[in-house]
Formats: sequence, structure tokens, C-alpha cells
Amino acid sequence: MKYWRQKAASNLPILVTGGAGFLGTHLCNRLLKDGHSVICLDNLLTGTKKNIVGLLKHPKFVFHQSDIRDCEYFKVKRIFNLACPASPPAYQADPIGTTMTSVVGAYNMLRLAIRNNARILQASTSEAYGDPLEHPQKESYWGNVNPIGPRACYDVGKRCAESLFFDHRRKANANIKIARIFNTYGGGMQPDDGRVISNFIMEALQDEDITIYGDGQQTRSFCYVDDLIEGFMRLMYSKSNDPGPYNLGNPEEFSIQELAETVIKLTGSKSKIIYLEKPVDDPRCRCPNIDKAREKLGWKPVVTLEKGLKITIAHFDKLLSAEKRRDKKSRKFIHGLAAELEI
Ligand code: UDP
Repeated sequence: MKYWRQKAASNLPILVTGGAGFLGTHLCNRLLKDGHSVICLDNLLTGTKKNIVGLLKHPKFVFHQSDIRDCEYFKVKRIFNLACPASPPAYQADPIGTTMTSVVGAYNMLRLAIRNNARILQASTSEAYGDPLEHPQKESYWGNVNPIGPRACYDVGKRCAESLFFDHRRKANANIKIARIFNTYGGGMQPDDGRVISNFIMEALQDEDITIYGDGQQTRSFCYVDDLIEGFMRLMYSKSNDPGPYNLGNPEEFSIQELAETVIKLTGSKSKIIYLEKPVDDPRCRCPNIDKAREKLGWKPVVTLEKGLKITIAHFDKLLSAEKRRDKKSRKFIHGLAAELEI
């Protein structure tokens, strides 16, 4: 697939909420590369300034630390609404906050889009399908979601956001696009993100036990981040006024057991696999049907799991080496200090 480039057409900036998070950082980089001006808005709850430190000097990049649950006004030409904790441990840590971010945040961003007459793309989720009874999942499937379980703050919050988006389209002519994002991974993930790929790689690189939750037979399909960002761009700049939703994900499906074995092989790790309790409402399977994105956006993922994992392993390896160097330095410093104080 050829790199698809949308040149900046106006000087107004593009707003990326959650711009200091994993996907947000990659998206900001891509937009700047294409010549756009970017306002990156993030409350730094799960995003981090470390992700965007290289961008802060860029003349077309502005960082704004704030929360989409608070109303603010920006003059912008387009909005990508990505702000929300996305890994299960992170979104369950403050479930009420997650719901409010998903719903009130989406409402605020929709009002902002309408005031600006700007197109808004909502980062929705494959979790909208819950523990799916249809497999692979098409956009037409309504899902199987537990509305009162520990995942509901995210699943139901994001479903409610989709409903708000469609009601604003019907009632206020909002120019909306909805992407349902399936599991995405790549360089730039936080080591303590809590998602399966970052956990497995960090464990493998340190020869620690690889922790599978449940029997490992549950499945997921993993999309490399560059592929996902390409899908975002195609959807945002699509000439069609079809609002979606569009599944964006890699349709190759793997069991979590297979993933663990692949990570061990690629890292040459001595880790053992251990099995822990399966989290409540953990979906048994997940795999996108991407026919709609293929047909209407000309999009499909091109990075294989093995290739994407190799890049991601290199990213975490670099992080660990930097940490070791820092530890060595601080150990040296402490030894020096102890010698000086004769203790
Ligand atoms: N998982 C696991 N070990 C981990 C983290 C996750 O076995 O250290 C499992 C988790 O129970 C789920 C799958 O891997 O079945 C994907 O989990 P993740 O948190 O990455 O995202 P989810 O698809 O659940 O949103």
C-alpha cells in the first residue's frame, strides 16, 4: 500500500485530543510530517510529556495540558478525538472518570467541531462489540456488552459516544467519522501500559515469567500503529460523507498463547509461561472484518505481526538499556556519595 499523503490545505491547526498518548503521539508526528499545524491536548493521565518532547520545538506544534471534560474553545479545522485511557487496567483504575471522558468529553468535542464547522473523527473501539457472538465482527453487528461489568466504563462509554456522534449528525449536521479501533501496538507504547503486547515483551526481555490471563486460547488481532494511523488519515480525509463506523484493525487472528510463544522466540528469552486468572468479561475472541475500510478507504494493514513485534521489541529493549545505564549511573553516584561520607 502506498503512503497516502494529505497536504495541509489551510493554516488552521488540527486538534488532537489525547495527543501525548500512544496513538496520539504517532498521529501528531504524521500530521506534522504532512505539513499541518497541530494542537495537542492531553491531561497527561496516561499520556506523557516524554512522548512529545521531540515535538515541543516544532514550530507548528502546540501542547496544551487540559482535559476534554472541561469546555474550552480552540479555532481548528479538524479534530481527532483520541483522549481516553485505553488499556483495561488504566481505564478501570478510574472507571467514573473513564465514562465521563468518553461521554462528556465527546460531547464537548462535538460542540467544538460544530462551532468550528470542522470534521471530527472519534476514536471508538472494538470493545463496542463486547464479548462478540458474531465472528469476525462486521460494523453492522450490535455487540454483546455487559452494561454493569468492570469493562462497561469503557465499552458502554464509547458506545454512548458513538450515539452522541450520530445524534449530533442527525440534529446538528455535525461532520463526523467514527473509527472502531482494534488492538494496536508498536514503538512508543509505555512499558507499564498493561496491555498484552507491552507486558509480554517487557517480561520476555527481562527473562521474567510471561503472564497469560486464562488458558491463552482467547484470540485477538494486532494492528501495527503505522497501519492504524494510515487508516485514521484516510478516514478523516475521505471524500465520502459516510460517517462510519469503520473497523480499523488487522484481520489476522492469533491466540494469546501463540502471541506469548512468538514473543519468546523473537526475543530469545528464557521466560516460562504461567497462567493467571482470566479477568471478568475478558472477550473470548476478537477479529475485525475490514471489508468496508478496504472498499471505501482503499485501506488494509501491511505490517505483519512478526515484523511489527520486532520493531516493538527493539523499542522496549532500548528503553530497558537506557534504564540500566541510568541505574548504573545512580549506583555509581550513591557509591561515590557513600565513600565521600565514609559510610
Ligand atoms: N492478557 C494476558 N496477559 C497480560 C495482559 C493481557 O494474557 O499480561 C490477555 C487479556 O486477558 C486479554 C488479551 O491478553 O485476553 C488482550 O488484552 P489487552 O489488555 O491487551 O487488551 P484487550 O483486548 O483485553 O482490550
